[in-house]
Amino acid sequence: MNFDRIPLSRRNLLKYTAVGAIAGGTLTSTACSNNKPKEVGIVNADGKRILPWSNWSGNQNCQPSDRIVPRNEDELLTLLRSGNQKIRMLGSGHSFSGLIPTDHTLVSLARLRGIENVDKETNQVDVLGGTRLSQLGSELWDQGLSVINMSDIDSQTFSGAVATSTHGTGRDLQSISGQMLSSRFVTASGDILDCSPTENSDLYHASGNHLGALGVMTRSRIQTVPAYHLKEHSWMMPEEEGLETALELSKQHRHYEMFALPHSKYILGLTLDKVAAEEVPAEPPVGSGDAYEAFRMLSNAIDYMPFARRWLVNYGASTVKPETRYGTSPEIFGNLRDIRFNEMEYTVPAEYGPQCLREVLEKIKKDNIPVIFPIEARYVKADDFWLSPFYKRA
Ligand SMILES: Cc1cc2nc3c(=O)[nH]c(=O)nc-3n(C[C@H](O)[C@H](O)[C@H](O)COP(=O)(O)OP(=O)(O)OC[C@H]3O[C@@H](n4cnc5c(N)ncnc54)[C@H](O)[C@@H]3O)c2cc1C
Repeated sequence: MNFDRIPLSRRNLLKYTAVGAIAGGTLTSTACSNNKPKEVGIVNADGKRILPWSNWSGNQNCQPSDRIVPRNEDELLTLLRSGNQKIRMLGSGHSFSGLIPTDHTLVSLARLRGIENVDKETNQVDVLGGTRLSQLGSELWDQGLSVINMSDIDSQTFSGAVATSTHGTGRDLQSISGQMLSSRFVTASGDILDCSPTENSDLYHASGNHLGALGVMTRSRIQTVPAYHLKEHSWMMPEEEGLETALELSKQHRHYEMFALPHSKYILGLTLDKVAAEEVPAEPPVGSGDAYEAFRMLSNAIDYMPFARRWLVNYGASTVKPETRYGTSPEIFGNLRDIRFNEMEYTVPAEYGPQCLREVLEKIKKDNIPVIFPIEARYVKADDFWLSPFYKRA
């Protein structure tokens, strides 16, 4: 096997290590058979076939008794006011935790999406609850606007992202909830409640991490900024250098984050900074290259040689070259994550972040814990939403 042939860009590296984690134990195989496929789902009391539900990673599953996608707010109100069923709201199913599974009715706002009421003076717009962040980014761009900050991916719905304090990175930038100026909820009894820091302010302060527990979030007014371009730069550095420079780099760049590779001697730093449109090359930013071939190679390698995990990860990391990409903010923000994983997240006060990460990495090495999935370390500015992981604390 010739590793020199693996195109080890940063993106590929993150993918390969993810694959190693899968190959290291969580992947299950599906046996082939000639049997006629069974009908999936159930037929409910209304004679409708209802498909089972699963989240993005597949670790959360359920068999709802109904699935409803209202065409407009009136249909949603009728549904809620009928009081016939217990309802769980579904965004795009990207949460790893059990926020969605239900035996009852799953409701999605997939038909209530897009932006409205664009105010070019204040850069404020309304976002309908079912709008995916990717659609939000592109519709804003058409209006000469951009979101202030964004998560790793842009597949989530706006309401789902706000429900969990979804965040990107940036010492001076809050989570996506921090961009929300006001919201409208339709309660379980079908009442409409608008909230902002000055109207129903308790509801507003709860709404920034609502976990789907406050009713249906049908729309939000958000603060945006004039459209901007980004330069992304990533580079591999020795682990200790990464830990020591993190705080300083987070002050120097609009966005700074690092990916620590367990069992390796390396940390990958990644910065994003605003640049003038003239600095951006005409071609759109290039993605992750020939990832699948390389994916299979490294996956197989770790599967057959789990004892060589440390060597493989270190060798892979040592071949990563610095990489720079330019593009519009939606192009650079929206990463592709097409290898399934499960993730957990902890928040610690910003000043203790690097020390905490150092101890986690030491523990993994010392106890030879079989994990090679990158640990992503980010900065988020404090906010004042009640259940927020960043409540009054960066
Ligand atoms: C590949 C991947 C990358 C990720 N990257 C990041 C990241 O960079 N940063 C980060 O912070 N998180 C990240 N996440 C986590 C993700 O952003 C959150 O789990 C987010 O909540 C998912 O949004 P969703 O639209 O899929 O909501 P869902 O998971 O479908 O739902 C989340 C919650 O919102 C509720 N809900 C949804 N819509 C409504 C509505 N209209 N009204 C009321 N309640 C509603 C649901 O009931 C549920 O409680 C990532 C997840 C994945 C799978």
